[in-house]
Amino acid sequence: METKVIVIDENDIDETAQAGLEEAGRIIKEGGLVAFPTETVYGLGGDALNPESSKKIYAAKGRPSDNPLIVHVANMEDLADIVKEVPESAKKLAKAFWPGPLTMIMNKNEKVPYETTGGLDTVAIRMPNNKIALELIRQSGGYIAAPSANTSGRPSPTIARYCEEDLSGKIEMIIDGGQVGIGLESTIVDLTSDVPMILRPGYITASMLKDVLGEISIDRTIIDGSSAEKPKAPGMKYRHYAPKGQLMIVQGQQDNVVDYINKSTKEAMAEGKRVGIIGTDATMKLYSADVVKSVGNREDERTIAHELFKVLREFDDENIDVMFSESFDDSGIGQAIMNRLLKAAGHNVKVV
Ligand code: AMP
Ligand code: MG
Repeated sequence: METKVIVIDENDIDETAQAGLEEAGRIIKEGGLVAFPTETVYGLGGDALNPESSKKIYAAKGRPSDNPLIVHVANMEDLADIVKEVPESAKKLAKAFWPGPLTMIMNKNEKVPYETTGGLDTVAIRMPNNKIALELIRQSGGYIAAPSANTSGRPSPTIARYCEEDLSGKIEMIIDGGQVGIGLESTIVDLTSDVPMILRPGYITASMLKDVLGEISIDRTIIDGSSAEKPKAPGMKYRHYAPKGQLMIVQGQQDNVVDYINKSTKEAMAEGKRVGIIGTDATMKLYSADVVKSVGNREDERTIAHELFKVLREFDDENIDVMFSESFDDSGIGQAIMNRLLKAAGHNVKVV
């Protein structure tokens, strides 16, 4: 299959762009797949109410079929149409954070096929904050099932080129809307339990949710990587976000971290390996390796979220065998950053 790529500027949806979105909407209505930008990462979209479309999504990504998809909607009335009831907590959270990087889990009704929910009676729903995504959802009939638009296991794509790399030839269309704003997947909160529970940390933090709901719990497996318990979001149990090379996170005081990384880099390079280092704006000049990249500025962790997956992909592009990364604060949005980084590293952490 030939994959058509169209370029759209989110801030200038002119007639040509509108025609492109109508074409993309038709593709999805007819059971095809389109990769598109959201504010979090690129999504791989199909008709959420069509079981055949969901099957195609799993096949294109190589995704295990017990890992449910997130359904994207463009308005609240459409949400009410696919769940048993809209809980009060969902109304409050939608008012505070939608459109935005928050996914809510509710009890599904019969309109949502089990192919979309990985066999579960619950469904994950989000309204993305991106004009291209919202118009595409409307043009597609209201419901787009969309996981991240990468091959399962690889870092999520934050630019269209990485969707092409993973999915070209396997899907009908890719909409290139430039680099996404946030760079990490949505926060997932389960509203079917007595106390709402965070199943995946993201840009919307625990304290932001607590401010709206009064109370919030967190799936322990997110915090404790060595927990024997199964994560409540089926997808969180899989190795994820992984670059092709080996990644180690180095934790400790800055001087010790820099010394350890430089020493280990020398050793690995002496063995003939290509080495990459993930530093920050303030530390990057202290390192020397084949490739040294800054993932952002510690003073504003949003910059780190924005660049993390892109940096991991760039190391793949440069055929890096071994990577060392600094560690980050585990609070606020740092919780989401460390969750992704730890998974990318397969929990390979060195404390110095
Ligand atoms: P992705 O779309 O690639 O960001 O992955 C979606 C994430 O949402 C995966 O970790 C899924 O396991 C999780 N998810 C989707 N639907 C549900 C659900 N009904 N219950 C629990 N987790 C879900
Ligand atoms: Mg994903």
